[in-house]
Amino acid sequence: MLLKSSLDELKRREAALNIINSKIKARNRSHLYDLTGLSGGFPIKKEDIDLLETYAGSAIFEEEIQIQGRKHLGGNKILALNRTSSGILASIIALVKPDEEVVHYLTQLPSHPSIPRSTKLIRANYREFNNLNEFEIGNNTSLVIITGSTMDHEVLSEEEFLRIIEISKSKNVPVLVDDASGARLRTVIYHQPRAMDMGANLVITSTDKLMDGPRGGLMSGDADLIDLIKSKAHQFGLEAQTPLIAGMARALEDFNPERILKAQDERKGIYKNLINDLKEINLTPTGFMLSAEGLMKELKYLNVTHSLSPKEAANILAMILLREYNIITIPAVGMPGASPTIRIDLASKDAECLNQNYIIDAFKESLLRLKEIIDDKKICRKVLYD
Ligand SMILES: *Cc1c(COP(=O)(O)O)cnc(C)c1O
Repeated sequence: MLLKSSLDELKRREAALNIINSKIKARNRSHLYDLTGLSGGFPIKKEDIDLLETYAGSAIFEEEIQIQGRKHLGGNKILALNRTSSGILASIIALVKPDEEVVHYLTQLPSHPSIPRSTKLIRANYREFNNLNEFEIGNNTSLVIITGSTMDHEVLSEEEFLRIIEISKSKNVPVLVDDASGARLRTVIYHQPRAMDMGANLVITSTDKLMDGPRGGLMSGDADLIDLIKSKAHQFGLEAQTPLIAGMARALEDFNPERILKAQDERKGIYKNLINDLKEINLTPTGFMLSAEGLMKELKYLNVTHSLSPKEAANILAMILLREYNIITIPAVGMPGASPTIRIDLASKDAECLNQNYIIDAFKESLLRLKEIIDDKKICRKVLYD
């Protein structure tokens, strides 16, 4: 096995960051194409810099994040956290006790790892559903989590969303919506209401997904619940610090859905071109993707026999895209447990300066390169970790 554990994924991520480091030093940042759709940004203003201090700055940017956060997410109180994962952890610590249960609903498995991992950490039970007919809340359920848009950008329908909230309300169980990308995808592309406007008690989004903010978790919700979560977040150091809050607030001020809408339009041309050669490519709301299982099928169509797992094959393909075509995707740089799907997000800032044919050729040629090296474990290992 080439990728055995979270530790191996960490090593793969470190190798990817080393490659990116040498590429930037050898040329410059403009020759790298981050097409993950979560490339981050830090659009603070010159006058903000002097206020990036612990207490005085917090007094100023806290007010701004309350205003901008409520505008973006609805709800009546905002909490800024270090990451979406931190907000999920803080919520589970605050609202769930050992032996109680977290129930999670999403359109398609797998779940983001932060939800089952946080539940396990406090020794609570975890159940997940992706079929409305099977969904149920137990006597011990103290939190329902809905994922608005999965890691692969599969979006929950408004009907299912409302139904889960209705069932949870009837049992008096609070609902937290993991809207990491959904807060923008669902509203901008699918014209769905904001989670809070559909009756959720809490919602969290990632300020670097489909917007130009730093990686951070922006939470909104009912003030009494937010206060409980905020208190736990402070106790365990999960809250965002002043510089991060400043970056998040300014990014929210600048948020403009135009690039998301443009990407929705542009993905069709690339898809039409690629689908002739790569039958397992699928459209996403703002780009296209090849799942790890889809990649296994592509290899089969090419009559390639091999012993790699879907995740290994997808990680190697992502490392080839990075090494040879300077394209950054999540299976190369993602944290352990991140989705192995190779997803190209045309709403990324870097997609704007990239010719569509470059992406098409890179995809086709990387697959052929994978085919060439797949039997050579030594070379595969080098591509993943060197
Ligand atoms: C990205 C994502 C997260 C976690 O965001 P981090 O910034 O990595 O903590 C959680 N849930 C979903 C559905 C996501 O897409």
